[in-house]
Amino acid sequence: MTKKRIIILGSTGSIGESALKVVSAIKGELEVLGLTTDRNIEKLQKQIAKYHPKSVGIVNLDSLAEFAGRYPQNGTKVCGGKESLVELATLENADLVLSGVVGAAGLPALLAALKMGRTVALANKESLIMAGSIVTETAEKSGATLLPVDSEHSAMFQCIQGQNNNAVKRIILTASGGPFYRYKGDLSKVTVKKALAHPNWVMGKKITIDSATLMNKGLEAIEAHFLFGVPLDRIEIVIHPQSIVHSAVEFADGSVIAQLSHPDMCLPIQYALTYPNRRPCPIPSLDFAKMNRLDFAVPDFRKFPCLELALSAGRSGGTMPAVLSAANEVAVYSFLEHRIKFTDIPRIVEKALGQHKRTTHPDLAEILEADSWARAIAKQQVKKLSVV
Ligand code: MG
Repeated sequence: MTKKRIIILGSTGSIGESALKVVSAIKGELEVLGLTTDRNIEKLQKQIAKYHPKSVGIVNLDSLAEFAGRYPQNGTKVCGGKESLVELATLENADLVLSGVVGAAGLPALLAALKMGRTVALANKESLIMAGSIVTETAEKSGATLLPVDSEHSAMFQCIQGQNNNAVKRIILTASGGPFYRYKGDLSKVTVKKALAHPNWVMGKKITIDSATLMNKGLEAIEAHFLFGVPLDRIEIVIHPQSIVHSAVEFADGSVIAQLSHPDMCLPIQYALTYPNRRPCPIPSLDFAKMNRLDFAVPDFRKFPCLELALSAGRSGGTMPAVLSAANEVAVYSFLEHRIKFTDIPRIVEKALGQHKRTTHPDLAEILEADSWARAIAKQQVKKLSVV
């Protein structure tokens, strides 16, 4: 059997590490051609020693210089800077690119891989949010395939296998509710540590904060819209605190197909890497007799204003989702740096959306301009609200 040759962008992050676990677990099926990190060179070096990639990329230039001094390579080519993401995404002879990069930084590499007609397993949802039409059009033009990695979207994708696309009536997008689902206290006073304590999922910091504000669920509704071509008003968000049902699809005849499993990112990552095949995955089987109950509830839009902000930006379309995502990135990192309060995140995003003059059918340059404009506005707001 020929091995599937893969490139992992963002290999030292949470998605990248889980992906490499999958590579080790299904021995002999996947070959690692390339890896990238922003600045975690110690971890990258360990991954090089174990997986022997042909090339690696280090985005941060100081880290690149340090890496060159500390870990001389023989046999592995080292690229550096932002461009290294594109260089790695377009490496020769690859079968699949997994993008686990966080934020807008992943967009150029995503587009470059899709232009080549390459299969991309996409965990970097921000790229799809900011430039959804351009990403899907680029894939269509070249015949490239986009495979979802996000657990909810992997669930939807699994539910529609073998179904006629026109038969999808509605998507039911589930949400755990995050760490503050049952929280009755003052959200303006919650600490970074508390916001990072997700009840069900182990993930990177940015997405964990997005899960706490429910921004993540709004972003995921937009993501589902672009991945499956379903309008936002046919995507229903449902709180499901146990995170066992990862999402469901209702078809024209009223049948609902759902995908269930223990919440572990290894499964959706593995499905994207082995698709269309299924392989054993080292997560526990569901025990229905012991499950007792699965709960579902409507989300609290007042307690979590980010959700409505995301959905309305998604409905407006054009450059609005790019502004939403960029302002949110700035706000989330400012919260992680203890500069603003948890409840300042939606305030900053709302301000940027409110001041933005939307372009209806933006090209890439207009999207990138909206992105930097929103970052500047958000940074101004952070300065105003800053607690340190
Ligand atoms: Mg998700």
